[in-house]
Amino acid sequence: MKVYNTLTRKKEDFTPIHGNLVTMYSCGPTVYSYAHVGNLRTYVFMDLIRRVLKYDGYKIKGVMNVTDVGHLLADGDDGEDKMQKAAREQQKTPWEIAAFYSDVFFKDIAALNIGKPEIIAKATDHIPEMIEFVQALLDKGYAYEISDGIYFDISRFPEYGKLSGQSIEEKEAGARVEENSEKRHPADFALWKKADKNHIMQWESPWGMGFPGWHIECSAMSRKYLGEVFDLHTGGIDAVPVHHENEIAQNEARAGKQTVNYWMHGEFMLVDGGKMSKSLGNVYTIAQLKEMGYDPLDFRFFCLNAHYRKKLNFTFEGMNAAKAGREKINAAVWAHKNGTETVPQEKLDEYKKQFVDAINDDLNIPLALGVLFSLIKEPRSKDVYKLILDFDKVFGLSLDKVTAPAEKAEKIDLPADVQKLVDERTEAKKNRDFAKADALRAQISEMGYEVKDTKDGLVVTKK
Ligand code: AMP
Ligand code: ZN
Repeated sequence: MKVYNTLTRKKEDFTPIHGNLVTMYSCGPTVYSYAHVGNLRTYVFMDLIRRVLKYDGYKIKGVMNVTDVGHLLADGDDGEDKMQKAAREQQKTPWEIAAFYSDVFFKDIAALNIGKPEIIAKATDHIPEMIEFVQALLDKGYAYEISDGIYFDISRFPEYGKLSGQSIEEKEAGARVEENSEKRHPADFALWKKADKNHIMQWESPWGMGFPGWHIECSAMSRKYLGEVFDLHTGGIDAVPVHHENEIAQNEARAGKQTVNYWMHGEFMLVDGGKMSKSLGNVYTIAQLKEMGYDPLDFRFFCLNAHYRKKLNFTFEGMNAAKAGREKINAAVWAHKNGTETVPQEKLDEYKKQFVDAINDDLNIPLALGVLFSLIKEPRSKDVYKLILDFDKVFGLSLDKVTAPAEKAEKIDLPADVQKLVDERTEAKKNRDFAKADALRAQISEMGYEVKDTKDGLVVTKK
């Protein structure tokens, strides 16, 4: 397999340290809000790497963190903790906020057929490991204490900036004017912050009560579960200039050598060509897409159509095309499942070869989908069906579960009382009385029917 390594800026042969076992760390969610489609694109990308590795016969020891402390609003060392802000706004504890949004996150990724990494590591469960890591950096002279916390001294790590290709001088110029004049360099970052009494999440440490910096969690947890040196680290492209640069500084300062062999980053998802973020409020969640009549797998398929290193623009035209594309594939898969014709083995072997070449060329999933689209045009045959299911180990589109297209399209006669509620709901929606519409939907659901607003209008199905 060849992968593009952000660190070397080259496509390289992927060779794991431990033979057949791949050790992999993926930056996970900060659980202060719902994941939006941009966040989820990054996890679809993580899932595709995992699936290709498995397809190639590797076993994976994968770790994903759940950030439930330390991620400040500005992504740097300033601002309120995102968890604490959400807790304040929703009048809950940060722990309740974390439990709620983690649960939704894991349901969302399951709906997208994203395999859960083998180890899920919550930041708040690893405070001792983080304190130990900070102490080790202090002992080695890579960190220093000032009145508000412990900071990493980037001047002690001359390679700082190697992932993004920015020099320390450029970083310094880019860093915001600091209120904190005790820092030796503007780009020095917090490993541990001392907490005042208003800070809800805080722990005892050798430096008094406080809480960890965001970056130290990934260094401490990857080291704990994967060892000092591991194969692969993934995340979104926005993590490169700060979060991952800082992780590298922490890891390598401690280990005295390179600790991650391959860094892979997924490009951003945009909305109508612009930035999407929870703070800008222009984000869509899986629940919203479902409400609009899309299947979560329509979104997965939408992501599969763009290479992970290309920006992807989220639009509803794109989602509609993905939905239609999936319907086409599903119908063809059903036909092959029930097919009686034959396709020569050499032909199938050629498709398989093209598919394997595509996925192993830095995850060229769009090209692999092209192979699938050619394959499904072959005469209806069970051998084609088998090969489709083999490919779907990577695509993850649940092609083994397709049902007859005709069954889905079948119109059902609604009982009069259900029809009456459906009409009332349509009326309520027209009057923009969404609370009433939702209540009616729940009532209809209790009677065993599901109402969906799709792009083609209202659809009612029996549950
Ligand atoms: P967060 O939960 O905010 O820490 O973000 C979780 C992941 O989503 C990180 O790996 C980010 O790099 C990634 N991410 C955030 N916004 C986007 C976006 N618009 N497109 C793709 N990935 C994103
Ligand atoms: Zn991380």
